[in-house]
Amino acid sequence: MDDQNFGTRNKRGDWAPNGHIEVAPFWAWPPKLMTVLKWLPEYVWPWNAFHMATALLYWFYVVPDVTVMKTLSWGWPLWLYAVNAGAIFVFYGSVELLFYVKRKQGNRFKYNAKFPGEQPSDVFWFKSQNIDNFLRSFFISIPLWTLVEVLFLWVFANGWVPWLSWADNPYYLAFLVAVAPMIHEVHFFFIHRLIHWGPLYRWIHSVHHNSVNPSPWSSLSMHPVEGFLYHAVAFWHLVIPSNPIVAMFQLHIAGFGAVNGHIGFDKLEITEETPLDTHAYAHYLHHKYFEVNYGGDGLIPLDKWFGTWHDGTKDGDVQMQARFQKKKERMNAKTARANS
Ligand SMILES: [Zn+2]
Ligand SMILES: [Zn+2]
Repeated sequence: MDDQNFGTRNKRGDWAPNGHIEVAPFWAWPPKLMTVLKWLPEYVWPWNAFHMATALLYWFYVVPDVTVMKTLSWGWPLWLYAVNAGAIFVFYGSVELLFYVKRKQGNRFKYNAKFPGEQPSDVFWFKSQNIDNFLRSFFISIPLWTLVEVLFLWVFANGWVPWLSWADNPYYLAFLVAVAPMIHEVHFFFIHRLIHWGPLYRWIHSVHHNSVNPSPWSSLSMHPVEGFLYHAVAFWHLVIPSNPIVAMFQLHIAGFGAVNGHIGFDKLEITEETPLDTHAYAHYLHHKYFEVNYGGDGLIPLDKWFGTWHDGTKDGDVQMQARFQKKKERMNAKTARANS
C-alpha cells in the first residue's frame, strides 16, 4: 500500500496522516444523523468488539466459579495473572514481532521514522526501551491490572454490590456496554491530567513518557501508581449498578486497548489491501508534545473543552505553540513578581 496517498513524509522520514483527527460525530451541531450512522460500525468494529470478545472468553473460560471467588487466596489470582500476561504477550507481542522486529511493512504509515530498538538511552533500564517497557508491563502493570480484576470479582462474588442480570436488565446493561468506552475516556483523561501536574509528573508519569517514540511494549510501561489508577476504571462498575461482564469489558478496554495509542503506525497492513486503522495518532502526538491530547481521540472531546486538543494539523500546531507561549509568559511574570 502506498502511504503517500494517505499522508505526507517530512525530510526526517516521519509520516503524518492527511486531514485532521475528528471528534466523534454525535457532538456535531446541528446533528448529522447520516455521519453518526456511518461512524457507528467503526465504533464497534474491530476494537470494541475485540474487547467484548475477550471479556466473554474470560467470563466463560477463565474466571473461576463464584464460590471460589468469594475468598481471597493465591490460586485464582495467580491463574488470572498468568492468563493476562499470556494474552498480552501474544497480543502485543505479535504486533511488536511483525511490525517492529520483522518490520513487515517497513516504515509505511509510521509516524516516527526511527524504531525504538535503534535508540539506546540512559533513561531506560538496561538502556533499552524494549527491555524496560517489557519488564515494567509484566512485573508492574499486569500484576496491578490483575489486582483490580481480583478485587472487583471478589466484591461481586460476595454480593456486596448489585449484580444485575442480563435477563432482567437487558437495555440498561446494553447501554452500559455502549458507553463503557466513554467511561474509559473520561476516567483516563482526569487521572492522566492529574499526573501531568509537575510533582506527580516527575514522581509517577515521567516513567511512561520516557518512551517518546512508543511501540506496543510502551503501552503498559507505567509507574505502579499509574498502573493501578489506570486499570481502576473497572471499579466504576462497583459504584454504578452493573454486571461483572461489563466490568471485565471495561477492564479490557484499558488493558488490551492501551496498545491503540502506542502502535506507532497509523494503519497496519493486515494484507496488502486490508489496512487496519489503529487510532493511534492523537496519543502519539501526546507522546511527542506532552501537553496535548490527554484523552483519547475525541470520543468525549475533553481536550477540546479544556483547550488542549491537537488535531494533527498545522493549525493544531499553531494553537499549541500559542498556548505554550502564554504559559511561558505567565511563568516569567510569576518569577518576576517573586523577585521584585
Ligand atoms: Zn502513552
Ligand atoms: Zn502523559
